[in-house]
Amino acid sequence: MLKGKTALVTGSTSGIGLGIAKALAQQGANIVLNGFGDSEQPRAEIASMGVKVEYHGADMSKPDQIADMMKFAASKFDRVDVLVNNAGIQHVANVEDFPPERWDAVIAINLTSAFHTTRLAIPAMRQANWGRVINIASAHGLVASAQKSAYVAAKHGIVGFTKTVALETATTGVTCNAICPGWVLTPLVQKQIDDRAAREGIAVAQAQKELLGEKQPSLQFTTVDQLGGLAVFLCSPAADQVRGVAWQVDGGWTAQ
Ligand code: NAD
Repeated sequence: MLKGKTALVTGSTSGIGLGIAKALAQQGANIVLNGFGDSEQPRAEIASMGVKVEYHGADMSKPDQIADMMKFAASKFDRVDVLVNNAGIQHVANVEDFPPERWDAVIAINLTSAFHTTRLAIPAMRQANWGRVINIASAHGLVASAQKSAYVAAKHGIVGFTKTVALETATTGVTCNAICPGWVLTPLVQKQIDDRAAREGIAVAQAQKELLGEKQPSLQFTTVDQLGGLAVFLCSPAADQVRGVAWQVDGGWTAQ
């Protein structure tokens, strides 16, 4: 379905971003990976699916590096057809204890980076009259949890940003939507489970059970494959008129 198209997924060396990159590659899209840590393994995995794959290590908190990544993508492939704004970090603390530099980092990486990638990707999408911007928000884009002020602010922000871009592109073949996962067992969440186990002096398995029980009625993690499947749907012709949605994949979290 995406043969000949190019997808750039930020934060795709791990977790949800990597899962979505693989799902899009399975549909034939060439992939631009981004993120920290080992890029060789993800690169090899995606190349083995028979598509072209490039990697750019831009730090999503640095607008000049983001601009460089977007130029790099355009130089390797004609343009970015599918932009997945996924890179994200978390910091957990009460607002009065929240380190200002962690606030700035969460807002920069989880929200402002999507402004920069999107503003740079949209002109070529408009010209081609086809494009997909998919923002990985969160259940925290729709409801809050204590101790996550920066994350909740950034995720609510990206849901609003999604709606605005959807309106600005509404008469074109470019769509913009958000995906709002509940708990997904990735390194970002594993850290919260480990911290909880240490804080409460309980086993990691028990901490995992409590984490799910608190928020996610299905008591099951959302999987990266399920999120990849939704991203593929959003790229399909069936989703041509899906515009500005914030689509929960959260086991009932926000239905409560
Ligand atoms: P993860 O920690 O597994 O992956 C995060 C990715 O972002 C990694 O590739 C990392 O290298 C990259 N990254 C981090 N800081 C970066 C920076 N400054 N510049 C470039 N890349 C950077 O996390 P994940 O759980 O896969 O999260 C991915 C997205 O999904 C995030 O936006 C997160 O908020 C969102 N999300 C996750 C969950 C969950 O339960 N895991 C739930 C809802 C939403």
